[in-house]
Amino acid sequence: MILPIRAFGDAVLRRKAQEIDKDYPELKKLIENMFDTMNGANGIGLAAPQIGLDIRLFIIDVSPLADDEDYEDIADELKDFKKVFINAKILEESGEEWKFNEGCLSIPEVREDVKRKSTIKIEYYDENFVKHTDTFQDIRARVIQHEYDHIEGILFTDHLSALKKKIVKGKLQKIANGDVSVNYKMRFPK
Ligand SMILES: [Zn+2]
Repeated sequence: MILPIRAFGDAVLRRKAQEIDKDYPELKKLIENMFDTMNGANGIGLAAPQIGLDIRLFIIDVSPLADDEDYEDIADELKDFKKVFINAKILEESGEEWKFNEGCLSIPEVREDVKRKSTIKIEYYDENFVKHTDTFQDIRARVIQHEYDHIEGILFTDHLSALKKKIVKGKLQKIANGDVSVNYKMRFPK
């Protein structure tokens, strides 16, 4: 089932999300709905706050990038990179900072370069509540960092310089007012 995606300006996107346990009601169904929602909006990551739940859950499916020539070298790894992260905790970020042009399903039509470190070490539970500690890099680390920010109440636009923030401010206000056209289901704060 496709759920409406909360737009910039919604208070839930600013809340620090809470941990859940394996008895969280209808967790399997929720995860399934999140994948339907993400795929329906052509996203490669989606965090629970984006569908209105302040819980520490996000999903990632970077397989669509496997066909992108920019990722030719890691196409095989990306093809199968579909994951659920529950109660994730980034333990370490390391390596060189690199810029990537990020976007967000909650902030349609805004894309900006964001600098982040290249490598992360993260602890999380999967959809079966099996605990993992993994190290990720390249675009996989990037998407995880972006989604992880969501469960901390942070949006990619928070990382922009003061000048860039000024430039996108008007666009963000328009989104908060529902004054933007999107081809997927969204819920605006006003
Ligand atoms: Zn996002």
